Amino acid sequence: MTPPDLSQVAVPPASLRMRLDTEALKANWRTLDRLSGAAAAGAAVKANAYGLGVERVVPALREAGARQFFLAHWGEVAPLLAHTDAASIAVLHGPRDEAEAAYARATGAVPVINSLRQADLWTRTGGGRCHLMLDSGINRLGIAADEVGDAAVAGLDVDVLLSHLASADEDSDMNARQLSTFREVAGQVEARRLSFANSAGIALGSDYHFDLTRPGIALYGGVPVPALAPHVAQVAFPEAAVLQVRNLKPGESVGYNALWTADRPVRAATVSIGYADGFLRARGEGGALGYGGVMLPILGRVSMDMVVVDCGDLPVKEGDYLTVPFALPEVSARSGLSQYELLTTIGHRFQSR
Ligand SMILES: *Cc1c(COP(=O)(O)O)cnc(C)c1O
Repeated sequence: MTPPDLSQVAVPPASLRMRLDTEALKANWRTLDRLSGAAAAGAAVKANAYGLGVERVVPALREAGARQFFLAHWGEVAPLLAHTDAASIAVLHGPRDEAEAAYARATGAVPVINSLRQADLWTRTGGGRCHLMLDSGINRLGIAADEVGDAAVAGLDVDVLLSHLASADEDSDMNARQLSTFREVAGQVEARRLSFANSAGIALGSDYHFDLTRPGIALYGGVPVPALAPHVAQVAFPEAAVLQVRNLKPGESVGYNALWTADRPVRAATVSIGYADGFLRARGEGGALGYGGVMLPILGRVSMDMVVVDCGDLPVKEGDYLTVPFALPEVSARSGLSQYELLTTIGHRFQSR
């Protein structure tokens, strides 16, 4: 079977689009860099820059001045290499096996070593520059404080010694406890740079900054702690097209399981966004889409690819684009979804603009 030749055919505009305010993104990075004091801000760009797309996000962050990027998976390295040098890429999951260690060397991306086993693997397969994660209490990844004296750690060429806060977004005693563990271990490990704070950690003050900070969510318009609210601007502005407009009679219901029934004549618009686009069912009840500044309430259940809204008496027509609320703190409070989940579930059907 020969696929059709599409080289001369323009792909029609998508019914979902994502306007990225790259100026706001750059401003957020510069602000977080400034709030990091003497430390430099890096950028967490794992999970395709929290769903917004590394191909737009990373060049903008580089323009703003970011020079250190954090990924989770080795599979995320290749798309990033088009936009930044390998030495600026840190891979948080570290090398699980020989294949990943070999891939690290082939690409030049720098592994974060998370355990004595990974330390031994990295050294055994040739060693070289790496980062080292200390577990100071979150108990996910990282070597324990009492393991730093191990010969496997002494043999590493550590650029950044890092650790990660469990409760930076809360006023919790745990922050100070983790800080004290990190400080103690920093005195025992030879490393060129120290890195401790994520977005929320930056707001905890200069004790938490060290040499390099690792903001993620706040770059993209998330506000993990109220203290950051005045400093963070919205970056992502999704829009979805109206596919069809219909007139509902009283007694007619809308969507799966007929969860909403008209009690009066209603002009309703079917809109091209659904849970496959990160618009999860939790955003249906009490949710709305915007039309020229007016909010149109969602009717019934969110489907995979569609949602229906009440047009009221507004002249909504097929082909119009409605705005999808994406002020992350507000949408999170209303839907019960975390700001991280709202971003990272965005999906692949948006046209970026
Ligand atoms: C994801 C991640 C970050 C970024 O955290 P935010 O809360 O999004 O600022 C920083 N450090 C590590 C180790 C991470 O996994």
